[in-house]
Amino acid sequence: FQGRSWEVKKVQTTCTHCGGGCQIEFWAKGNRLVRAYGVEKEGAENRGHLCVKGRFGFDFVHSADRLSTPLIKKNGQFIAASWDEALDRVAENFQKIKKAHGSDAIGGIASSKSTNEENYLFQKFMRACIGTNNVDFCTRFCHTPSAVALGRAFGGGAMTNSPALIEKAEVVLIAGLNLTEMYPVFADFVKQKVKAGKLKLIVVDPRRIDLVDYSQVWIRPRIGTDIAWINGLMNVILNRQLQDDEFIASRTVGFDDLQAAVKYYTPENVEAITGVRAQTIEDAGMLYGNAPRAAILYGMGVTQHIHGTDNVSGLCNLALLTGNVGKAGTGVNSIAKQNNGQGAGDMGCLPPIYPGGQPVADEVVNQKFSKAWGVPLSKKPGLTESDMVLEKERIKGLYVMGGNPLGSGPNLRKIQEVFTAMDFVVVQDMFLSETAMLADVVLPACSFAEKSGSFTSASRLVQKVDKIIEPVGKSRPDWEILCDLSDRMGYPMPYRGPQDIMQEIAALAPSYGGISHGRLETAGLRVPCPSADHPGTEFLWGKTFKTPDGKGHFFPAAYQAPAEVPNEEYPYLLTTGKDLYHLHTGSYTNKSVPLSRLAPEDLLEISVSDAKKIGVANGDKVRVRSRRGHIDITAQVTDRVPDGTVFATFHSGAVNDLTIDSLDAMAKVPELKMCAVTIEKVA
Ligand code: SF4
Repeated sequence: FQGRSWEVKKVQTTCTHCGGGCQIEFWAKGNRLVRAYGVEKEGAENRGHLCVKGRFGFDFVHSADRLSTPLIKKNGQFIAASWDEALDRVAENFQKIKKAHGSDAIGGIASSKSTNEENYLFQKFMRACIGTNNVDFCTRFCHTPSAVALGRAFGGGAMTNSPALIEKAEVVLIAGLNLTEMYPVFADFVKQKVKAGKLKLIVVDPRRIDLVDYSQVWIRPRIGTDIAWINGLMNVILNRQLQDDEFIASRTVGFDDLQAAVKYYTPENVEAITGVRAQTIEDAGMLYGNAPRAAILYGMGVTQHIHGTDNVSGLCNLALLTGNVGKAGTGVNSIAKQNNGQGAGDMGCLPPIYPGGQPVADEVVNQKFSKAWGVPLSKKPGLTESDMVLEKERIKGLYVMGGNPLGSGPNLRKIQEVFTAMDFVVVQDMFLSETAMLADVVLPACSFAEKSGSFTSASRLVQKVDKIIEPVGKSRPDWEILCDLSDRMGYPMPYRGPQDIMQEIAALAPSYGGISHGRLETAGLRVPCPSADHPGTEFLWGKTFKTPDGKGHFFPAAYQAPAEVPNEEYPYLLTTGKDLYHLHTGSYTNKSVPLSRLAPEDLLEISVSDAKKIGVANGDKVRVRSRRGHIDITAQVTDRVPDGTVFATFHSGAVNDLTIDSLDAMAKVPELKMCAVTIEKVA
């Protein structure tokens, strides 16, 4: 960019990439974003810092691949259409399905990329206009075990503390989370504190991630054995009498059951299950148990398993056992990958709850929302995204706002078959994603830079999103599209703008009762923020839990085998994850020129000895095959992964051709973190 300062417009907003919620000042010249700088102001958790995605990954907004007009599929081909034509087609088809099969034959997938206001309207549209609770979003494939486990243990499924408060910890246990690549700005603060001698880390990861070099103890378990090492730590803590008896007696329920359940998990027994040396379990238990303030951070390595809910419950048990919850520098903190995953959940884009976590099945809550929205509402909890996209014939019509299940879901061939069997699919997106390719109608949506609203960060911080440039092509903000479509279907939603929508959210969702766009102008507010004079809540569960009896509940669990383990035919264990430069299926980051140059393709990490066995060198193409499909991918020979395990990034979506669709029974998250594969060199 070359220009003079008076030629640029400067606007502060919130990063659209990860759940860190970094504050950014964008410079725009004409209708183009040209520069991004970190903002240093009160309440901005990034303190002026940005990672490579925030600093250089905004050019996707101007990608030549942006959808600029609605598309309608005719004879298998997309044809450009007017907004009237496209929205009439959507309204007509949804009405037809509703009449023939009922409201529950339609499902909706909301977006952790859209604003709070847009997600609120999406679930309102599905519930009040379509008439179903079949509304979910992509967290189903990553963090729903957190919502279930934290909800039943503490009474709410959010990150208990914030990054700033975690800095008050003496010990941090980081499990199944590559913090450096997931939330780089926060990872830098953690590393600085370790270097200054003020923090000790326990890192749990089967890969030698860079944080291992900063750790006091590295637990390297066999993938799929998390509950065993977690129970092992509690076994050590109880044997050494390091539990917080006062906290257990006054604030928890179920301790006796927990004590009985972890008895078996001696360090020696844990070694037999996990492959982690007994002494390492002993060291980790002692370090966590002796810390005056110990925090837990975890990611999808813990949740994306058929026993993901048990794993998160295990971490909650560990925190309750040692009184490490309800004060600064402690807690159980899930690090969500998407910028507004927390917000989409708070806005009620989940099948059993309205905005603010209020159950759809509750009579009083149902009456409250029916009255506010002026229509009778269903009390039947809806289908999850897993039900909708993995089971044929569960629904006939689907509305996808911004999600990409054809890249992020497991066993993609199966999902493709389910989509093909549906009568009508509409996708609202910025790009022609893998999912949009299968749609009957595609509606072009604006990027974060072309609209206003708010995002809620992973740590519950609600922050303003401000419009910087005019919409690209004929794209429109999600909220405007929803209002227009709802009007056409006979349920008018006459909002003047996102600020009106936030007023309605504040009136109906108690945890957002004190949030308004006016208050967000100066700084973000951390929910719960129940009233206009409330300063926001820095950490949860200080005095009481939000469970029916106000206590924290232990939910012990035993180790159970994963859905699929290597055997002679499929001898390697495949696990998946992200790199520093991309997010999820790369919908935005793959469209960024700088980010794509830095990481142009997915890679398969393979150990030196496995590579030798197969005859593969660094940079060779290999074919990875599971029981569900195969992909060709470039090999990266490294000592980061243990022998017998390979790791692939998932940013092209292709790797999910291989993954398994077995689900956690409670959270319905697929076991995306592990499956058995075979590997051969491509000739
Ligand atoms: Fe954006 Fe996350 Fe990077 Fe911050 S750490 S700049 S929120 S991608």
